[in-house]
Amino acid sequence: MNPGKNILEAVQLISHAKYLVAFTGAGISVESGIPPFRGEDGIWSRYDPGILEISRYFSSPEETWPVINDLFYQFFSSAKPNPAHHFLAYLEKIGILKSLITQNIDNLHQEAGNKKVIEYHGNSNWLVCTKCGERLKVTDEIIRNSVPKCKNDGALLKPDFVFFGEPIPDRAATKANVEAIRSDVFLVIGTTGEVMPASMVPKMAKNSGSRIIEINIEETVYSNSLTDLFLKGKAGEVCRELLEEMKSLN
Ligand code: NAD
Repeated sequence: MNPGKNILEAVQLISHAKYLVAFTGAGISVESGIPPFRGEDGIWSRYDPGILEISRYFSSPEETWPVINDLFYQFFSSAKPNPAHHFLAYLEKIGILKSLITQNIDNLHQEAGNKKVIEYHGNSNWLVCTKCGERLKVTDEIIRNSVPKCKNDGALLKPDFVFFGEPIPDRAATKANVEAIRSDVFLVIGTTGEVMPASMVPKMAKNSGSRIIEINIEETVYSNSLTDLFLKGKAGEVCRELLEEMKSLN
């Protein structure tokens, strides 16, 4: 495989897309310092995935909250968007990228400047009251507590992202499916394709005739089934090359 040729081909597909949609997973944020869940250095090699079971959060928040706080608040807060996030923000700004479906909860796409973001698994920057339903922006004061409590009624607050055992928010799931079906080019970045039901979204794009470009450091379940053009490498590095090539054409 000639990576140079694939970069050129990807730039052609992206530049001529009528309706480009991107789909991102934990891999896009690895170069920002956030590890993925799976793999050798993944979060699950150090932590028990059970801490993200919704039933466990409700039954023993004193046990699960400190780990969640450590993982998603202390750690995420220092992360900054990398060239892959900035590339997607650029594509939206110039009108090519019509929407961005992310499985990530780290808010880095929004920080990079993307506005048309579909948050498939929610966003860690918000907490929701399990009693009154109010949505609160995360503050140091709230997360410092042994468990986060609602200022209105003292009830437990839950991070506004999808725990294991929780359904995908209807609006996000529907919008993601609609956008996948509408796309003519679909850019998949940094996802194993093993998390259901998110993993079905690229399949919908493919079944609707979209061309699939995939960026990953290694092949995934999509690579030999859905992917039309595989760009092997770190998301930030590959996207920097794509951006340079796109700019050189203008
Ligand atoms: P995953 O952990 O299952 O897989 C990560 C994928 O990224 C792998 O295919 C890996 O090969 C690839 N990858 C690793 N480094 C990369 C790099 N530098 N460039 C390109 N690709 C790279 O992640 P997932 O499939 O997205 O699913 C896990 C779920 O966990 C997600 O749905 C998400 O909700 C959640 N999660 C989110 C974050 C975050 O918000 N940053 C971090 C960890 C997990």
